[in-house]
Amino acid sequence: MAKAKEPKETAGKGMEEKTEARLRELFEKMPYPARVLLFTDKEKNEPFNQAARQVLQILRQVSPKVQIEEFDLRGEEARKWNVGSSPALLFDPEHYRIRWLGPPIGEETRTLIIALQMLGYRSAGLSDESRKILKKIDSPRHLKVFVSPTCPYCPQQAVNGFNAAIERPDLISLEIIDIQANPDLARKYGAQSVPQVFADEKLIAMGAQPEELFMSSLEKMEEQRIFIPETDAAEVETDLVIVGGGPAGLTAGIYAARSGLRSVIVEKGILGGQVATTPVVENYPGLTQVGGKALVDIMLEHALQYANIFPGEEVTEIRPGDPFLVLTNRRRFKTRALLLATGARYRNLGAPGEARLSGRGVSYCSTCDGPLFTGKKVIIVGGGNSAVTEALNLKNINVDATLVHRRDGLRAQEHLLKSLKANNIPVLLNTEVQEIRGDQEVREVILTNNKTGERKTVPVNGVFVAIGYDPEVELAKKLGVELTPDGYIKHDGRHRTNVQGIYAAGDVEGGYKQIVIAAGKGSEAALTIFEDLINPYWKKPA
Ligand code: NAP
Repeated sequence: MAKAKEPKETAGKGMEEKTEARLRELFEKMPYPARVLLFTDKEKNEPFNQAARQVLQILRQVSPKVQIEEFDLRGEEARKWNVGSSPALLFDPEHYRIRWLGPPIGEETRTLIIALQMLGYRSAGLSDESRKILKKIDSPRHLKVFVSPTCPYCPQQAVNGFNAAIERPDLISLEIIDIQANPDLARKYGAQSVPQVFADEKLIAMGAQPEELFMSSLEKMEEQRIFIPETDAAEVETDLVIVGGGPAGLTAGIYAARSGLRSVIVEKGILGGQVATTPVVENYPGLTQVGGKALVDIMLEHALQYANIFPGEEVTEIRPGDPFLVLTNRRRFKTRALLLATGARYRNLGAPGEARLSGRGVSYCSTCDGPLFTGKKVIIVGGGNSAVTEALNLKNINVDATLVHRRDGLRAQEHLLKSLKANNIPVLLNTEVQEIRGDQEVREVILTNNKTGERKTVPVNGVFVAIGYDPEVELAKKLGVELTPDGYIKHDGRHRTNVQGIYAAGDVEGGYKQIVIAAGKGSEAALTIFEDLINPYWKKPA
């Protein structure tokens, strides 16, 4: 038995060594050292101090270009830089006004590594468009980006913050605030979902944004939702543009490129889609139990070997033709075919108070926001696999979780129902959420029993909504792609839509929503596209 473990351990070690070598190579090329000052007070947040110290030490060991100095929070250096919380990191304070309150662990280690490289080059890797927007800023801005180590959306916003503060050190200062290490600050700002960005105390963004949208929100001091580039962007010629970087899109990228098609994947949000925020996946063949984000990373690494991936890029317009012209916020693609693997987005409850208190206790992602509710009381709304998975995840991190469902039974898988029971998670059936109440944050919910008519007020700190997903079909509609009566993309059984050259794959087509099925559909669609481009079906004799 002991022997069977060996190959796994060796493989893990091999992977670590590879990552370390890759990092070393990256750091060694930097023209300047990346200097980080760590401030700690062993009386305050000691487990977080240790975590911060550990991750910084590991990176220092990788390369001497990473320079870490640790100071006591009660000492002279802390007074000089006006540091008051533990742990706190200052990034090359002689050149930039950037600090990180909390340990850069979990998902945030990615941000730290990118930030170290920016310090080492004393330059942000911004697009021309972003640079132009930042140039327009003519008064000081102080940014606060709230993050958590379990939030896969957060690094995108944190890196955006670093980019801004490194590009304009004259006017922009930045604080990255970890909500777990700084719950009081999170409460003060009402930041109960992450990421959230404040500029000069004003909320300017909730959720992850493409770089240019972040910069224009910062310039205009309010959240921007659409960014139209001012100039003609660079042009990329390809055979296939895949819109969406979830399991369907990533798998299609692998299959299409292996068939010989030049393929690109464009993703506006987080790579991996819904999977990236799934706490645990237990039914992906070959992996008994794997974190959603870990599974995404495995798929991504694989897809990167074949396809070009453009993250943080939003398709703003598609002009049909031969070739199609696909415009994003950064460039335009000329392509022979287009695959819509746009997936689905979470469904809103529609209860009064939901929209106003979103990010203030109303959440759609327990992986991201769950840690803020440790020791607190929340309800999870829904009766399917997602609601049960979220309830289990929350219970696992010591959240007092109750499941609320409108029917007289749940429709989750047996395995999940058993875990729900084993964890003693209370379930309120035949119960609907009438209203979510609170001023700055969620305080209570009004629940009614739809059988007895009983109405009650339940004090809660949070409401997690897990009532399913709606397909993302905005682009499809603009292109005249036909939909099914349920609102999914209609296709011919081989993923061809009614518009020649446009295909669909994954959750956006409806059917069972399983990662393995989305991946399967992605591969099928790619094979169809390959066959069609070689031997166009629309040119075949009838
Ligand atoms: P789902 O299976 O569609 O279930 C949605 C749940 O929310 C249903 O119980 C539904 O109630 C309820 N609901 C819908 N609209 C509502 C509203 N307005 N108010 C109150 N309740 C409402 O969605 P899901 O659980 O998010 O799962 C999505 C897909 O991903 C599913 O296909 C699921 O199988 C899959 N998934 C799989 C796993 C897994 O395999 N382990 C894990 C997570 C998700 P009704 O019952 O009354 O319709």
